[in-house]
Amino acid sequence: MSEEAKALNSLQEGTEAIRAENLVRHFPIGKGRKVHALNGVSLGVRAGETLALVGESGCGKSTLGRLMVGLDRPDEGQIFLGEEELTKLSSKELRARRSSVQMIFQDPVTSLDPRWNIEAIVREPLDNFGIGTTAERKEKVIQLLERVGIRADQAECYPHELSGGQCQRVGIARALSLSPHVIVADEPVSALDVSVRAQVVNLLSDLRDDMGLALLFISHDIGLVAHVSDRIAVMYLGEIVEIGDTSQVLNDAKHPYTMGLLDAVPKTHPSLRRQRSPLEGDPPSPTDLPDGCWFAERCQFAKAQCRSTHPQLRRLDGTRSVACHLADTIKNTETN
Ligand code: SF4
Repeated sequence: MSEEAKALNSLQEGTEAIRAENLVRHFPIGKGRKVHALNGVSLGVRAGETLALVGESGCGKSTLGRLMVGLDRPDEGQIFLGEEELTKLSSKELRARRSSVQMIFQDPVTSLDPRWNIEAIVREPLDNFGIGTTAERKEKVIQLLERVGIRADQAECYPHELSGGQCQRVGIARALSLSPHVIVADEPVSALDVSVRAQVVNLLSDLRDDMGLALLFISHDIGLVAHVSDRIAVMYLGEIVEIGDTSQVLNDAKHPYTMGLLDAVPKTHPSLRRQRSPLEGDPPSPTDLPDGCWFAERCQFAKAQCRSTHPQLRRLDGTRSVACHLADTIKNTETN
């Protein structure tokens, strides 16, 4: 790790760089109804770690990401950056801390201002925070671009002159410009050609290692994060239903929803070559959540208890926690 990288991250590897406690976010939609986007989510990401947050579209992953970077405020709950509670800060104070937690967006092309060249896009956060002289900012931009694999002579280009993968590299350079401790990457490769996805994922992993970043990697694709994450958190209807070490979750999933996600993955990775219960049906409406387990209508293991009592996330084994009444007894159904 370079001296600069050490300075970037004053947090010791292994400690939680960012932590969410019981985050609740509901969006009113009129007539007293609301979308229950997040329903009491707690998780932390350690410095030097990648925590993958996976789940189907609309499960609340991006809402959580936006709260973590301060683009939105929770209705309830707390977010801590190291020891400091961000959720107590005023908007002005929060803006000042935003340099520590940066986001990488899903669509690299539309997330970059088409009127600005690459240098201006990457330099803007440095300008906004008044960091360095003009010459120092320019030099820093070139360093960042080269670090993410963009040539210095491409700094004069505009976003439309670059490929989607190159634009995402520019987005990463911009996110790194303020030397953050935490990166929230929201589906960072899902809009890219399959051929360049691995390159961008590997770049993020290298940067995490070099800079000691805490990386929250949001994805709908549990197969993708299998290769890059240290831990996996599975989200369903705004709740974490399983969280644990990546190998533990992949090889011995305990929540039926996790098993269903794994079953949908093409069986190219050895640890994923299992046939488990298929994931069928749709989740209940997030505006009208039922009593009991919210997965019950889709769960082949559901019992009477599941329809009456909502399961809480509880420690099951080692570092893994699961929100399922029957997690101790359910066996994965391998048919091949
Ligand atoms: Fe299935 Fe019951 Fe577990 Fe819910 S609590 S996932 S319905 S077994």
